Amino acid sequence: METKTETRNYLNYINGAWKEADSGEVIESTNPANPDEVLGYVQGSSVNDLNQAVEGAKEAQQTWKKLTGAERGNLLFKVADVLESRLDDIAETMTREMGKTLPEAKGETNRGVAILRYYAGEGMRKEGDVIPSTDSSALMFSKRVPLGVAGVITPWNFPVAIPIWKMAPALIYGNTVVFKPATEAAVTAAKVVECFEQAGFPEGVVNFVTGKGSVIGQGLAEHKDVTAVTFTGSNTTGNNIGKTVAARGGKYQLEMGGKNPLIVADDCDIDLAVDAAISGGLKSTGQKCTCSSRVIIQEGVYEKFKQKLLEKVSGIYVGDGLESSSWMGPCATKGQFESVQKYIDIGEKEGAKLLFGGRPVSNDTGGYYLEPTIFDNVTTDMTIAQEEIFGPVLALMKVNTIEEAINLANDVEFGLSASIFTKNIEHILSFIDDIEAGLVRINSETAGVELQAPFGGMKASSSYSREQGEAAKEFFTTIKTVFIKS
Ligand code: NAD
Repeated sequence: METKTETRNYLNYINGAWKEADSGEVIESTNPANPDEVLGYVQGSSVNDLNQAVEGAKEAQQTWKKLTGAERGNLLFKVADVLESRLDDIAETMTREMGKTLPEAKGETNRGVAILRYYAGEGMRKEGDVIPSTDSSALMFSKRVPLGVAGVITPWNFPVAIPIWKMAPALIYGNTVVFKPATEAAVTAAKVVECFEQAGFPEGVVNFVTGKGSVIGQGLAEHKDVTAVTFTGSNTTGNNIGKTVAARGGKYQLEMGGKNPLIVADDCDIDLAVDAAISGGLKSTGQKCTCSSRVIIQEGVYEKFKQKLLEKVSGIYVGDGLESSSWMGPCATKGQFESVQKYIDIGEKEGAKLLFGGRPVSNDTGGYYLEPTIFDNVTTDMTIAQEEIFGPVLALMKVNTIEEAINLANDVEFGLSASIFTKNIEHILSFIDDIEAGLVRINSETAGVELQAPFGGMKASSSYSREQGEAAKEFFTTIKTVFIKS
């Protein structure tokens, strides 16, 4: 397919102006389906660029916080309209930059529009409670107030939705933002930031700085004027950010990896469970934090489930994401492509049976394509049952009882999302009570979230804070308790 995306230099957006990095360095962004295709260049910024952005954001916050919620909300409604009008271009950029199929990229961009509208409406909702005082001549109430400057650090796998589900609540509650996207998806992110500019956001309220995580991400974590840091990404990076921000007394929120189980009970609708394993495990090339990576199946339906799964997986077409026949795109980066293959090798060496796939898909453009992969006979002590692979790999595990299934599901360090397929109400109730996951899904795939509901994990998947819906207010505001005596 011909490239339609313009190859250009995408600049930092600092204090209302598009600027080159002081260093003059740029970083190339390429298409994982065709690594020779350059999508654009983003700035290789230094701490100096970051400091300018934080300074601008700090100053702008003094004015921004004084606008009414309705005024801030009107601007977010405008961003939603601009993003909607640019949906096709931004979705195509996303597909070219990180390999998600075009329908998924459009769905994600539409989700971004809906999130913006949801939080725009928040500007008209309550910001506190009246609390009865023991003094009859006093009025006591709580009032939510912004924190100041919010640092937003995001991964490459949802380059529109994740930045928006962090920035929109930060902004509506009166904070200003310094946004550092993952370099691998920074062209898509730059286009999202352009929507804020086009909508008429005041100078300094939204700032955008690209560059190395170890420089710009770490710089945000360390900066004394960045009151709060919201992060989504890997555990290694997240835990380091948490320690750094905590050490200077800042507020932080971490959403990290998963090793999400899907339990298939004897009594379930097998076809539904098979579809959920495929969709939840392999869509987006398995690069969702909520993707199903362990399928824990009761003995009675194990063989039947396996046969049906194999039939359907063998019909999956892997392509560049833009062709309408592509069900699954490439891995997002060379590093990801190699890392998933390393896990497939380890799986075989540790004794799991490779039932399907496991190899790169040959192609003319050097794209990072992998076959959808299924392992059989996986046991909980194996690396592929414990570590996040972040690729199109399903591990099948056999159990006798649902109690055993839940114990196995919990036998990992992560606790993001989990699902069970069953019609038995007792199994459903014990699953809700006993599963160690922030997102508990019954007869539905592990990888599905709604923007108006709290989102986040337990155990090593999260700092136990929650994003999205009303829960975002907890993170992006603090409470003043006001006591007025006549
Ligand atoms: P990553 O941790 O490598 O990068 C995330 C962000 O952190 C990027 O912007 C990166 O530039 C930045 N960064 C890198 N090094 C840094 C440092 N030393 N200090 C500060 N920032 C730094 O993660 P990734 O590879 O982009 O994303 C994949 C991971 O994200 C997976 O583990 C996945 O499970 C996780 N994820 C979690 C959720 C969730 O909500 N739980 C959602 C999506 C992705």
